[in-house]
Formats: sequence, C-alpha cells, structure tokens
Amino acid sequence: MFQLYEDSRADGLGYHPSHRREKEVDILETCLQLSSPELICKMPNGDVSRRIKEGLASSSRKENQSSREDGTKLGKRWFVILGLLFLGCALVAGVGLPLALELRSSHLLEARLLVVKRILSEMPLIDGHNDFAWNLRQRGGTARNFPFEDDLSKNLTWGPEWQTDLVRLRRGNVGAQFWSAYVPCEAQFLDAVQLTLEQIDLVRRLTSKHPTGMRLVTSSAELEGAHRDGMIASLVGLEGGHSIGSSLAVLRSFHLLGARYMTLTHRCNTPWADSSLVEDPNEDVPLDYHSSGLSTFGRAIVKELNRLGMLVDLSHVSTQTMRAALAVTKAPVIFSHSAARALCNSSRNVPDDILRYLPINGGLVMVSFDSAHLSCSSSASMHDVIAHITHIRKTAGVNHVGLGAGYDGIISPPAELPDVSGYPLLLAELTRDRRWSAADIKKLAGGNLLRVLKEAETQSLALLAQQPSEEWIAQELIEDTAYCRYHDA
Ligand SMILES: [Zn+2]
Repeated sequence: MFQLYEDSRADGLGYHPSHRREKEVDILETCLQLSSPELICKMPNGDVSRRIKEGLASSSRKENQSSREDGTKLGKRWFVILGLLFLGCALVAGVGLPLALELRSSHLLEARLLVVKRILSEMPLIDGHNDFAWNLRQRGGTARNFPFEDDLSKNLTWGPEWQTDLVRLRRGNVGAQFWSAYVPCEAQFLDAVQLTLEQIDLVRRLTSKHPTGMRLVTSSAELEGAHRDGMIASLVGLEGGHSIGSSLAVLRSFHLLGARYMTLTHRCNTPWADSSLVEDPNEDVPLDYHSSGLSTFGRAIVKELNRLGMLVDLSHVSTQTMRAALAVTKAPVIFSHSAARALCNSSRNVPDDILRYLPINGGLVMVSFDSAHLSCSSSASMHDVIAHITHIRKTAGVNHVGLGAGYDGIISPPAELPDVSGYPLLLAELTRDRRWSAADIKKLAGGNLLRVLKEAETQSLALLAQQPSEEWIAQELIEDTAYCRYHDA
C-alpha cells in the first residue's frame, strides 16, 4: 500500500493521467456509439436503407422489375454489410465495452490517488479521534524524546501499536486531527481532572514542538487557515465526562485550554450520564444507572457545551443518553469514533433510529476503524469500513458521515489501513463507486465536520448573552465517591 501511494506522489514520473483518461473516454465513447441502434440509424448505411425503400415504391413496372432486381442485389449487399456491422457491434459490445468498464472500475490506483490528493487539497481531511497522547504517556514516552518526525513503520524498535507520526500523517493527507485527551475511568473521583490537564498540556507541547508541520486551532476558521497554509490542524477532544469532575467550571477551563469536544462518558457512568456499558449484556448494570440517560445536571452540561461552542460527542454513551442529549442540544452532535450497530451489534455503535434522527439534528457519525466496532471481531478489512460508511450514508444521508479512525488506540485496525497514512487509499476505493462524487467525498473527508463545527460556533454566538451556568451537581449524587473532595465550600 505504501509503495503504491509513494509512486503516486512521484508526480509526472512516467505517469500521465490526462492521456490515460482521454484514452479511456475514447474507448468508452466508441463502444457506446457502436452499440447504440439509434446511432447506427444516423450513420450512412441508415440513409441508404431508406433510399432502397423509396426506389421500390416509385418506378414503372419494367423499371419496377429492374429496380426490384437492383433492389434485391442492393438488399443482399446491405444485408451483408449490416450483418458485418452487427458482428462488429457484437464484438465491440462483447469485448470493447467490458474492457472499457473494466478500465473504469479498476481505474489505475495511481490515478484515483491523484484525484483524492486534489480533493484533499481543497478540503481538509479531518479525523475525529486519535489516542496518540495516551499511548505516549502509557508507554513512558515524552514529547521531547519521541521521534514524531520519523516514519515509525520503518523503525524496527517501534511496534505496530505506534500508528501515528508526522511522516505518516502527511502521507495520509491528514488536514486536521482531534487528539483525544483521554484518561482512564479508573481515575474518576481520583485525579482525572489533573490527568486530563496533563494530557492537554502534552498535545499542546507536541504541536508546538513541530511548528512547521502542525498548528493548534480552536475554531473552524483557524482550521481552514491551517489547511490553506499546508499545516496539520491540531484540535483537542475530551474523552469522557469523568474528566471534568462533575464541575461546569472545570469544563469551561478545559474550553479555555482549547478543548472543542467532550465525549459525555467513556466506559464508565459519570454521576450525571450513562455509558454504553449499561447496554452490554456481558456487564452487570452499574449501581449508578440513570434510567433517563442524562440527569438534570447532565442536561445542564449539554447546554453549557452548546453555549461554549464545544461539540457534544456521543460515542461511548448509552442509547438512552444519545436520545436525552439529542433532545436537549441546540447544536449538531458528533460521534467521534463509532460505527453502525446494524452491521456490528456493539453497544459502542449507533443504532438506526438514532442515525435516522441525525438529519434533524445535523450531526454526524465519524466512522471508527477499530475491528471491534466494524466486524465485532478481532479483524476487519477496508471494505468493512466502506460498508459502515455506506450504511450510515444510506440511513442518515451523505451529510452525516465522517472519519474517526481512533489510531493509536486500536489493537487491530483493518489490514489495508494499519495507520494514519491509509485515508487516501480508502477514499480512492470509494471513487470507484459512481455514487461517490467528488463533492460527496469532500463531505465525508472533512466537509461535514467543518459544517458541524461552524454550526456549533454560530449557536454559541446566539447563546452568548446567556450567563455561564452556575449549577453544581447535587451532593447526594457524589457523596459516596467524594472522599477526595474538599467538603467545606
Ligand atoms: Zn474511545
């Protein structure tokens, strides 16, 4: 895959896409013309056929006799010519047309990758989720020492769990990346807030360490500006409501530091929202289960996210929480890294009734590349990713699907898409399908997320007159777990 892609980047070296395209069009047009009866009638033989008929109808008896003989000879001659033409058409239709269709369907990979490259120069590819920051922390790496500017797939001292570096981000034509400021659920009620601060700090340091390649952005306009300047836009997403310690003040502070989405839960309930765990038949229902998905305080958090212009991320939450959040939010939501439940019955995926609601809300599902979400097993292919994209498009519409691979947090990505360099191959595969126009591919790649971000910003401006929420979570909801909190204020 990498070799093929690298070849395509060697622009012009032995490769002339326009000539090939013209040749293909020529073959297609020839085949279509020769296989169309309508066009054959307009050809010279069609005119002659008419003259034979006219001659037979208008002459004297002798002349008629002579004409009949002549006509018979002509008829035989034209019968032979038409027969030969028919045989020619059959040959063209039988050999040429399939050949042309084959050319269109298999259309050289390099050509399709060049088309994708042009599309992604006009629209940033925006990925909704990357766990590099936690991977780095978990494995004892530091932003200072990590060889982020090396292609780690060629470095044997680094394993396949390192799926992200600057070289492969560039090769993948990534225009913007949401870096997840994830911290484990085990830190809830302990030091989750501090850990999240440290992860945001790590993303910011990593970005500023590579000023010629990456730029921290906090708005759609900045994102587009970074793309225009050839930079990869870095955005921060909070993965799990436990990161804010049930405090709207902490949420606002994370917003000031650049966070632009918050996943309402991770794999644990918060005191105000249910995670997808409550639907998992293999798990015991947690004691802190909220039958309505979101508590009153949870609904206040969604409203505050709207006021701040932060996206509400519904990956990881229960279906009931999805419904509750969709009922409250005034801005489009995202699923930063999920897939379609109809194809893989995982509680991490989005059910069809929620997909059907997305056109009303305006939000989108950014498709995860995790085999566990794609095939509900330990392996998946690029075509599984395409199947989920296609299902979401069919059910919600092309305006409501995007990409949220989840690299550096995926144990088993699709074989053809092992790391962040693979997006162009995926999009090139989609270009083989006539249903995917260039405009559609732009929407999938980043246009839909950009639209959602802009709508959230517009909604935030409309809510600017509202005062920041000063609600606090009810003491009884956290008293069993509040042993590390200061109680006298
Ligand atoms: Zn996740």
